[in-house]
Amino acid sequence: MTHGPNGSIGAHLDRCKVDRRQLLEFCGGLMVAAPFGLALTSVTAPEALAEEVAEADRVAVIWLHFQDCTGCSETLLRTSAPDLGELILHLISLDYHETLMAASGHQAEAALEASMERNLNKYVCIVEGSTPMLHRDEGAYAKIAGKPAHEILKKVADHAAAVISIGSCASWGGIPSTPPNPTQAMGTAAVLKELGVDKPVINLPGCPPNPYNLLATVLQFASNGTLPALDDEGRPEFAYGRLIHEHCPRRAHFDAGRFAQRFGDHGHRNGWCLYRLGCKGPVTHAACSTRHFNEVPDVWPIGIGAPCVGCTEEKVAFKVPIFEKAKISDAEPPAFYPSVEEEAGEIDPIATGLAGLGVGGLIGGTFVASQRFSRSPGDPACPGGVEVEEPAERSWEGPEPNEKEGKGS
Ligand code: SF4
Repeated sequence: MTHGPNGSIGAHLDRCKVDRRQLLEFCGGLMVAAPFGLALTSVTAPEALAEEVAEADRVAVIWLHFQDCTGCSETLLRTSAPDLGELILHLISLDYHETLMAASGHQAEAALEASMERNLNKYVCIVEGSTPMLHRDEGAYAKIAGKPAHEILKKVADHAAAVISIGSCASWGGIPSTPPNPTQAMGTAAVLKELGVDKPVINLPGCPPNPYNLLATVLQFASNGTLPALDDEGRPEFAYGRLIHEHCPRRAHFDAGRFAQRFGDHGHRNGWCLYRLGCKGPVTHAACSTRHFNEVPDVWPIGIGAPCVGCTEEKVAFKVPIFEKAKISDAEPPAFYPSVEEEAGEIDPIATGLAGLGVGGLIGGTFVASQRFSRSPGDPACPGGVEVEEPAERSWEGPEPNEKEGKGS
C-alpha cells in the first residue's frame, strides 16, 4: 500500500518510539463501538484493529476555530492517561490548530498554506465552533489573520477530502445560535451550502463531543478512504444511532418507577432515574451511556447525577428548558407507583389479612400496568385507571428527534 506525504501511522509510531501497547489499549477502547456498526471495528479483536490502524495513512488534519469555547479541543486532549493524549497526536498529523500549535502569526498561516498544498484534496478539515454570518464580509464577529471566518472556511473546505464539524456549535450553531442569535451563527454544513461548496460534512454534535467518535471517523477514513454511514442529520450511525435512554445504566429505575424528585433527595443520592429532573435521554441520540469520558467509568452527565440536556439534538439542546420533562413516545411512566420505602411494622393476623388483600390488589394493579404499557402511546390513563401526568408542552417545532424513521423504537 502506498502512503501519502505523512506516511503510515505505524511507521510514525516506530520513528517516535511509541510503545505499541498504547495503540493496542486505544484500539481496545474503539472496539466498544463495534456492536453499533463502526466499519473500522468489523475485525473481531483489538490486535487486528491495531494492525489495521498501523497500516493506515497518517492523515493531515487542519483544525479551524470560530465561535467556540475550545471545549471540543479540550475533550480530545484531556484524557485521564497522559500517554493517550499524546498518542492521539501521533495518530493524526495535526498541521494547523490555532490553540495548540507552537507557531503564531505569519508562521501559523504559512503552516496552513503549506499543509493545504502538500495534502491537496487529501486532508481532513475539522471545524470547531459556529460561523458568524452577520456582516460576514467585514468579519465583524470572527476574523483570523485579517480574513473573515466564512472566507477561511470556504478556502480550506474547498480543497479538503472531507469536513468534520466537531461539537454542537459547528454542527448547527450551538450556543451562539441560541435565539436571538445576535451574530447569525450557523453550522458548518449550512454555511458551506450557502457558499456553494460541495463537500461531505460529518456532524459530531455534543457539548463536548466524545473524542473517540472523532478518532473513529478519522481513522476509518485513513484506513480505507470511506466515511461512516450517516443518519439524516449527518451524524455517524455508529455513535448516534440509538437513544441514550436505551442504554442508560439508570433504565432499570425508570422501568421500576424509581425517580429522583429533587436534587439531593433519597432517589438522587441512590442513583435513581433522572427523568423527573428533566433528563432528555429519552429523546437524545448519542453514545454517552456506553462510551464514557476520560476513560473513567461513569464520567458522563447522567453518571454523576446530572440530567442529560440533549446536547446532541438540534431541536433540544439550548432550546428546551433543562428541567422540562422529555416526551416519551412509547410509554409514559406512571405518576406514582407503590412506595418502595414502606417502613416494616409488627405482624398481626388482621394486618396480615389486610396485607393479603393489598398484595392481591397490587398483583392486579401490576397486571393492569403491564397491559397499559402494551397499549398504544398517548393513552392518558395509567395503571389502575389513575390519570397519568401529561408531559409538559414541547416548545420546539417540527418532528421529534425520536419520531424519525428508524429511531427511538
Ligand atoms: Fe437514564 Fe434519563 Fe432514561 Fe432515566 S430518563 S433511564 S436517567 S436516560
